[in-house]
Amino acid sequence: SYIPVDDYDYLFKVVLLGDSGVGKTNLLSRVARNEFSHKSKPTIGVAFTCRSIQVDDEVAKAQIWDTSGVERYRGITSAYYRGTCGVLLVYDVTRHETFENVTKYWLKEVRDHADSSIVIMLVGNKADLSHLRDVTTEDAKAFAAEKENIYFMETSALESTNVVNAFTELVTKICHNRI
Ligand code: GDP
Repeated sequence: SYIPVDDYDYLFKVVLLGDSGVGKTNLLSRVARNEFSHKSKPTIGVAFTCRSIQVDDEVAKAQIWDTSGVERYRGITSAYYRGTCGVLLVYDVTRHETFENVTKYWLKEVRDHADSSIVIMLVGNKADLSHLRDVTTEDAKAFAAEKENIYFMETSALESTNVVNAFTELVTKICHNRI
């Protein structure tokens, strides 16, 4: 259903984090404009876009920040996280190194800088590339649920699988935490 852009009950800042090339920009363009690009064009600086999501009887507007470009400088300041309610920690299921960087670096970065009430979701993107898979669903699920107590979903920005679901679940958890 159509939701007017400026008609919302809650506004939440959500941040996409993860190594370069894992698909953050495409997850953002998929959820905001239903677009996908095969070319990788590094975003210089920080970009954000909005998406309204229906949660129960209300409309939550997610202001989604893409850090492409920023991650190259490693060490994002607390100012960047200020007011952030949710984080999508993205890795590429075909590159184990990007998963390791979530477990060793990005999660710590979030826990060190963001508010403790923040809702975190681990996102394994490029799930369409099953023949190249390098991180099993079971390992990622175990890490998220058993070790870190964060949410988990696998997505494909290319095939548009679970992308809207991931944002909707994150925003729904944020809403339920606050209301
Ligand atoms: P970012 O650096 O994290 O923002 O990553 P990009 O969104 O720029 O994506 C990096 C590359 O991966 C681009 O060539 C995209 O076309 C590709 N890509 C992104 N998401 C997917 C996906 O779900 N499946 C596949 N097969 N390729 C993807």
